[in-house]
Amino acid sequence: MSQIIEPFVGLHVIAPPDWRAIPSATAVCRCGRSRHARGRERVRVLIEAYTAHRETCTGQPETPETTRSAA
Ligand SMILES: [Zn+2]
Repeated sequence: MSQIIEPFVGLHVIAPPDWRAIPSATAVCRCGRSRHARGRERVRVLIEAYTAHRETCTGQPETPETTRSAA
């Protein structure tokens, strides 16, 4: 289990004002789904995917097979 310094749920986009800078985005859902994208096009795709996912998200882990959760 990795330690996260500042856990958050939602969409976090880092887009520098300089258009030449490469934007990046991190999307974390309440179900535990986590995605990271870097690059203008990839960030755009990530945002669309995350938005679409939220509408259908049940709050359950996207992988029904939990192999690491066993204590
Ligand atoms: Zn979700």
